[in-house]
Amino acid sequence: MGNILIIGAGGVGRVVAHKCAQHRDVFTDICLASRTMEKSEAIAREIDAEVRTAVVDADEANAVVELIRERNVHVLINVASPYQNLAIMEACAQTGVHYVDTSLDDERDRIKYDYADQWAFHERFQAAGATGVLSIGFDPGVVNVYCAHAQKHLFDLIETIDIIDCNDGDHGYEFATNFDPETNIREILADVITFEDGEFKTTKALESCRQFDFPGIGLRDAYLMTHEEVLSIAKFIPDVRNVRFWMTFTEKYLRHLRVLENIGMTLIEPVVYEGREIVPLQFLKHLLPDPATLGPRTKGKTCIGCLFEGQKDGRPRKVLIYNNCQHETCYADVQSQAVSYTTGVPAVLTARLILSGDWAIPGVYNPEQLDPDPFMNGIGRMGLPWKVREE
Ligand code: NDP
Repeated sequence: MGNILIIGAGGVGRVVAHKCAQHRDVFTDICLASRTMEKSEAIAREIDAEVRTAVVDADEANAVVELIRERNVHVLINVASPYQNLAIMEACAQTGVHYVDTSLDDERDRIKYDYADQWAFHERFQAAGATGVLSIGFDPGVVNVYCAHAQKHLFDLIETIDIIDCNDGDHGYEFATNFDPETNIREILADVITFEDGEFKTTKALESCRQFDFPGIGLRDAYLMTHEEVLSIAKFIPDVRNVRFWMTFTEKYLRHLRVLENIGMTLIEPVVYEGREIVPLQFLKHLLPDPATLGPRTKGKTCIGCLFEGQKDGRPRKVLIYNNCQHETCYADVQSQAVSYTTGVPAVLTARLILSGDWAIPGVYNPEQLDPDPFMNGIGRMGLPWKVREE
């Protein structure tokens, strides 16, 4: 049991707060903090349990330290934007508080794509007796745990991992992103880094496309994309030769994105407009629908999983481990669509596993480095059941 601090009151923050409130046996005091009070208070009002709220600028480690001490926090879930990861980890290292996040840290004016700065906290977390679990949303996150499960229980050797992600849902808007538009558009348009034949290779965005059969959805075209789990899975799954990430997009979505890119609306470098600097992508985010408001209008299914190829008992084996999620079911559970749901629920289970002792190992870890069994046993009950399809 312990007190939890959630930082970030967006779409994912809503899911995390609702799920923590459903698990009051573990989370005794719940505090939801964000840059402004309004969104946190709106979420707290939705929940039929006492959830405290606070304002914090998580770019400032000292401000987070102060809040941690004021609330006597034991575990912190960071679901703000990736720019705050290092400041929040600094606060946890200083106070010995357990840390959970759902995406790789980043910088506002350049794409970093490197875990080095977060891994550098490992010794300080060990010394402080704190556990840090990085990037434990769904992808990255649950898919990393699927890899550890396949390695432990299904294969003697995994040669290839294709992470496949299909959101077949519809929110009815011409163009909207299902999570933070800035992070989403940056990652879709970034050069694609994949692990092929034991080496990292770079290609251009949205160039490679392949068809996959998504259980519960059917055949869909998916595009090769940059995604942070490729970096850590290639490092921590022994002898793996290929790790790739594929995501489906509708033709309508891609057409909008290409136009926005062509006219400069997705630039992350500032431009001067009427004497003041603005970042086009941040302005675009301001214009687009807030992903946190998509819940009631999104219908349909998601399917995310890992397609493994390798060897078992001297024979080739090919297996898909996956989850299907229904947007409407997620909304009924926590008033959110499935993309935020599949991100927030694993983070809450992780906080639970840290507090229960199953994942309480001092240091900083990616999910595939930890024992997959307690997570795979618990995630179905939390709302994200998994299945195995022999290919
Ligand atoms: P949103 O943009 O909807 O929400 C982010 C929240 O963080 C907002 O409430 C924002 O406040 C707050 N915030 C931003 N900066 C600060 C700051 N300096 N101090 C305190 N609070 C701050 O994002 P999402 O909820 O969609 O996503 C949250 C995280 O989840 C992101 O890091 C995203 O990359 C990650 N994610 C991971 C996925 C996975 O599967 N691994 C999938 C989807 C998302 P304000 O509203 O005032 O700006």
